[in-house]
Amino acid sequence: MAGQLNKSIRYIRGIGEQRAKSLSKLGIYTFRDLLSFFPRTYEDRSVVKMISEVMDGEEALVSAYVITPPRLNRIRKGMDLVKFRIADNSGACDVTYFNQSYVKDSIKQNCVYFFYGKVVKNASFVSMTNPIFEPEQSAGQVTGRIMPIYRLTAGITQKIIVKAITQAFDAIGDDFPEILPMDILQKYNLAGAGFAYKNIHFPESGEALSLSRRRLIFEELFVLSCALGMMKKQEGKNAGYVLSGASSDTFRKSLPFEPTGAQKRALKQAMEDMVSGKAMNRLVQGDVGSGKTAVAAGAIWFAHQSGLQSAFMAPTEILAEQHYHTLSKMLLPFGIHTILLTGSMSARAKNQAYEMLKNGKADLVVGTHAILSEGVEFKHLALVVTDEQHRFGVRQRAALSEKGNRPHVLVMSATPIPRTLALIIYGDLDISIIDELPPGRQKVDTYLVDETMRRRINRFAERLVSEGRQVFIVCPMIEESETLDIKSTLEYAEKLKTEVFPHLRVKHLHGKMKAEEKEAVMAAFADGNIDILVSTTVIEVGVDIPNAALMIIENAERFGLSQLHQLRGRVGRGDHKSYCVLFNGSSSREAAARLKVLCDTNDGFKIAEEDLKIRGPGDFFGSRQHGLPEMKLADLSCDMDILDTAQNAARLLLRDDPELKKPENAALQQRVSELFEIGLN
Ligand code: ADP
Ligand code: MG
Repeated sequence: MAGQLNKSIRYIRGIGEQRAKSLSKLGIYTFRDLLSFFPRTYEDRSVVKMISEVMDGEEALVSAYVITPPRLNRIRKGMDLVKFRIADNSGACDVTYFNQSYVKDSIKQNCVYFFYGKVVKNASFVSMTNPIFEPEQSAGQVTGRIMPIYRLTAGITQKIIVKAITQAFDAIGDDFPEILPMDILQKYNLAGAGFAYKNIHFPESGEALSLSRRRLIFEELFVLSCALGMMKKQEGKNAGYVLSGASSDTFRKSLPFEPTGAQKRALKQAMEDMVSGKAMNRLVQGDVGSGKTAVAAGAIWFAHQSGLQSAFMAPTEILAEQHYHTLSKMLLPFGIHTILLTGSMSARAKNQAYEMLKNGKADLVVGTHAILSEGVEFKHLALVVTDEQHRFGVRQRAALSEKGNRPHVLVMSATPIPRTLALIIYGDLDISIIDELPPGRQKVDTYLVDETMRRRINRFAERLVSEGRQVFIVCPMIEESETLDIKSTLEYAEKLKTEVFPHLRVKHLHGKMKAEEKEAVMAAFADGNIDILVSTTVIEVGVDIPNAALMIIENAERFGLSQLHQLRGRVGRGDHKSYCVLFNGSSSREAAARLKVLCDTNDGFKIAEEDLKIRGPGDFFGSRQHGLPEMKLADLSCDMDILDTAQNAARLLLRDDPELKKPENAALQQRVSELFEIGLN
C-alpha cells in the first residue's frame, strides 16, 4: 500500500546497513525509490537460438546438452579453467569458465541447460566464455526471459537489486497503489500501476514492456505537468507586497553606463509585474555579458523604493562574492545596505547576518544556498533574484519564495533554450529576453587548435600578459574521477608554474578548495595580482574580470557547446581585444566539426540550437540544466507525443479539480506535492 512504499529498504531481507548505504548512492532509500529504479536496459534472454545460427560476437541464448564431462584445469596460481562441450541438434560449442571452479560440480554431463552469453565463432568453431547458465527445467531466473539490467555501484550487483525488487513486490502484494485517476487510465488506454511496475522490471514479453513503459512515461510527465500547472496558479496569486513607483530614472542615472534598450525593457517589465498586484515570476534570459546584473540591481532598487528587502542568490560562493561586491557598489548611492551570506562564513558572521535580515537593517542579502537555511528570516522580503537559475532547482526557488510573504521572483539565465523546451520548463514563468549586447562589445576571436600549436599559444599568452592582460586556462574535470582529475589539473598547474611560465604569476583554482582559499585567489586575480589562472569549470558562470583577454580551454571536446560559450564569456568583458583558444584533444572529425561552431558564431542562442541539434534534447534534459526533477524514464527527444497527451490530460484535470482536492485525485495530489517537496496550497 502507499504507506508501504515509503518504508525504508532496510525492511527488505538482505539489505543491511552496508548495502543500504551503497544503494543510497543510487538514490534508493525507500521501497518507492527501489521500484522506481528502472532498468538501464534489458537483455532479451527469452529467445532460444540454434548453435549453428548464432553469429560471431552476438549475445545469445542456446539450449544444449553437455556432451563432455566438465574438466577443471589449474593453469597457475590464481587461475583455473573449467572446460566442456555442449551441443544441440544443429551443432556443438566449447564452453570455458575462468576462475569459477564451482561450475565443474554444478554442471552435469548429459543434462540440458540454457546458456546465455557472447558467442565467438571462428569458421565453424563455436565457443562461449563464462556464459550464464541454468538447468532447462528450472530456467526462468537468469535465462529464458527478458532480463532487466540496472545501473550499479560498488557493493551492489544485478542479483542484489533483482532480489530486493522481487521482495519489495512480494511485500506490497497485489494491491499496488495507483496514483492515476481511473478515468484517465481508461481514456488514454494506460496499463495499471501494478502491471506497469512489475513489467518494467520483469517483462513478461516485449509487448508488456512497451505497454508498461508508455504508462510510466505518461505518469512521469503527467505528474510533472500537474505540478507545474498548480505552481503556476499558486504563483499567480496575490503578491505579498504590491510595490509602488513608476520611473526608474534615478536608478538609471546612477549607472556608470547607459543601459541598452533590452535592459531598459526587461527592467520596465519587472517593475510592471511588481506593481501589478500579482507576484512576479519572470525569467530574464540574456546571453553572457548582456548585462543582466544591472537589471537585477534595478529591480532591487525598486523594491527598496518601497522600503522592502531583496535577496539575491548565486550558484557558487565565488559568484556570490562577486555579485556582493558589484551590487553593494551599485546600490550604495541609494543607501541600500547589502550583506553577504554564504555557507563557509563563521557561525558568528552568519548569526550577525540573520539578525540584520530579521530586524530589517540589511536591505539586500547576496549569497548562496545558505540563504535557504532554516535560521534565515526576513523582516519584509519583497523580491528574490536568482542568478544562473539552471543551477537551482525549481524546488529551491519555491523554498526561497516561502521565506517571504509571497515575494516577487526574478530569475536570470544565460542558457538559451529553444522555444518548445522553454514551454515545458518555464511553463510557469514570464520571459524577458535581452537580445542586445552593450555597445562596443567585441567579438571574442575563437580558435580551434591542437597540440602542434602549443608553443605558439604559450608565447601568445606571454605576450598578452606583458601587455598587462590576464589569462584563464580551464581544464575539464570529469565527475566520475573527480579526485583523480583534481590531481591531474593540480599537476598541470604545477607544470605551468614551474616549467612553462616560471616568470609569470600562475595560480590554481578548483571547486574542492576551501572557500577562503578560493576567495583569496579570485580576489587576487580580480586585483590583477595573478597573470594566469588555471582553473576547473568553477569559473564557468558569471565571473566578471574585464582585464582578462585570453581564455584557453584544454580538452575542449569534453565540454558541451553551451558550456564552452559560457566559459568564453569570461573574456571580452572589457575594452581589450579578447581571444578564446580551444585545444581539441580528440582526433574525431565530429568533435572538430562541433567545436568549429564556436569559432563561427558568438551568438549563444545559435550555439544552443546547434548543441541541441548535435546532442538532442535528451542530452539537454539529461544534463539537468533546467531545475526540473530528474526524468527517470521519459526522454523528451522521442516522447514528445506522450508529453503532449500528458500535458493535455493535466490541463483538463486541473480545470475540473484545480487543487486536486477530490477524493479520487488524492493519491495524485500526494505525489504532486512530493515532487517539489513543498506544500501546494
Ligand atoms: P551577464 O548578463 O553575463 O550577467 P553582467 O551583468 O555581468 O552580464 O555584465 C557584463 C559587463 O557589462 C559588466 O562589466 C557590466 O558592468 C557591463 N555592462 C552591463 N550593461 C552595460 C551597458 N548597458 N553598457 C556598458 N556596459 C555594460
Ligand atoms: Mg551574470
